[in-house]
Amino acid sequence: MAVPKKKSSKARTHRRFASFVTRKRNQLEGRTHLMVCDSCGAAKLAHHVCAACGMYKGRQVITVTKTKKVTKIEA
Ligand SMILES: [Zn+2]
Repeated sequence: MAVPKKKSSKARTHRRFASFVTRKRNQLEGRTHLMVCDSCGAAKLAHHVCAACGMYKGRQVITVTKTKKVTKIEA
């Protein structure tokens, strides 16, 4: 089994993670894989479950619950 020869420094680890974050952020901001949902018509990422209705490939995968905004606290 391959074993790392040296312990990777914190700086190296953080640098790697920072580049990963930048790459992911650019991917999400670019929205190159944006599609239209077949069932509700909302914009969604390709090969992902629709966040608006929870459908994927014509079947319900997740149940989307609309959370009520708390406006006042009852004792
Ligand atoms: Zn949808």
